[in-house]
Amino acid sequence: MYIVQIASECAPVIKAGGLGDVVYGLSRELEIRGNTVELILPMYDCMRYDHIWGLHDAYRDLWVPWYGGRVHCSVLCGWVHGRLCFFIRPHSQDNFFDRGVYYGCHDDVMRFAFFSKAALEFLHQSNKRPDIIHVHDWQTGLIPVMLYEIYQWHGMGHQRVCYTIHNFKHQGIGGVEVLRATGLNRPEHYFHYDRLRDNFNPFVLNFMKGGIVYSNAVTTVSPHHAWEAHYGDFGYGLGHTLHLYRDKFTGILNGIDYNIWNPEVDTYIPYQYAKDDMAGKAQNKKALRERLKLQDDPTKPLICFIGRLDEQKGMHLVHHAIYHALKNDAQFVLLGSATDRSIDTWFAHERDFLSTHPDVHLELGFNEELSHLIYAGADMIVVPSNFEPCGLTQMISLKYGTVPIVRGVGGLVNTVFDRDYDNLHEPEERNGYVFFQTDNYALESAMNRAIGLWRSYPEEFAKLRLQGMECDFSWNLPGEAYVELYEFIRDK
Ligand code: ADP
Repeated sequence: MYIVQIASECAPVIKAGGLGDVVYGLSRELEIRGNTVELILPMYDCMRYDHIWGLHDAYRDLWVPWYGGRVHCSVLCGWVHGRLCFFIRPHSQDNFFDRGVYYGCHDDVMRFAFFSKAALEFLHQSNKRPDIIHVHDWQTGLIPVMLYEIYQWHGMGHQRVCYTIHNFKHQGIGGVEVLRATGLNRPEHYFHYDRLRDNFNPFVLNFMKGGIVYSNAVTTVSPHHAWEAHYGDFGYGLGHTLHLYRDKFTGILNGIDYNIWNPEVDTYIPYQYAKDDMAGKAQNKKALRERLKLQDDPTKPLICFIGRLDEQKGMHLVHHAIYHALKNDAQFVLLGSATDRSIDTWFAHERDFLSTHPDVHLELGFNEELSHLIYAGADMIVVPSNFEPCGLTQMISLKYGTVPIVRGVGGLVNTVFDRDYDNLHEPEERNGYVFFQTDNYALESAMNRAIGLWRSYPEEFAKLRLQGMECDFSWNLPGEAYVELYEFIRDK
């Protein structure tokens, strides 16, 4: 099959969170399975150009219809660790992708509406006719809409779209100007509840709703989150739409790329290690402590948090975990980048307050290299999310023998099984600790169980680590599931 992935991220060249990892990992798996895969991405000024090989002009003059006129773009092409990527670079005064950030601009809706339009225009003008166009999250929600409403009349009637929702919280909300800009010319048609009109705010259009309505298949990133979004509150207002389109909506668990996230081959960590030779794990812990200037005390377990500092991730619980760890003679390392000014100020304050403490280090910002060392050097990771569509940090941690302590929501339910209380899995299948409430006590009780096991029953803790390392969360099964889904919609 010929598959084109269109997304706003692809690791490691453009990565703000899990979306980047998934777009890269899935593309690689699809290629291994014999498919032809290409990616279309925005060309941001701040992306990691050092991860692109052989960047060159692929299509010099791409004219993209925009409002009444046309915007001149170039398309550059290069390989990102073996994946063929096309980068769209507009030459307009808007400077849509020259902002020094991936997201968070006042005109994000227009930036990604433009990207969606340009990606389709590129497929159209360069005569690329993939069997499947796989689009991701709100940024590309307009692609199935424009494909069906415009481009199918320009020779793209056979393309099928799979739409994957990685985060329901951000849906892409725009007004009539988006329609005018993209050439979706009949406002009354699109401002209809059956199409793009937001389910709760009648004055706005919802890109993600458009993506659901117009795609051939819709997925989210874990089976449990699919259930939560459909029947619970986690659809953030799209539950009804998902219900209407329930026949094409499923949850497919994300995978992890074990060529990147694997302590046996990881080149970012100083000491490689494996299930049957764990000496390197202890050496990495020492190296991590040295790097972050923590005291090297053999009586202290090291607990970490890695992730975006965002309400989604349960910030008050992350904050509490730091102090609870310290109270229980454990060490804590946090690596996080804030998406919100107030959270950034809060954690910057904590960092300064704790800066001379020998048992804690808060690193604010995005640091791929350091994240690998933390996964390898820590004993446990906390993931106390309010909601978590899939969550990659717990899956990565499992592979590195770092025991996850998670809240039982979304994909965390599908991947972490409580050592003491899970009655659906055999004791030898269990791999971490799970709590359910969002209060401090729930987190404390799970942390206490983990710290207690580490301290009082080290052999049992070592066994739990190994059970985690034995879990298979590779792309193998999800890759198969996506191929089946693609074949299903292609043949329809
Ligand atoms: P989300 O997609 O909600 O951000 P996931 O758990 O699905 O969360 O994916 C997070 C990914 O981003 C993981 O690969 C994690 O290691 C990485 N990550 C998150 N924050 C940082 C950071 N500050 N520095 C480096 N890597 C990070």
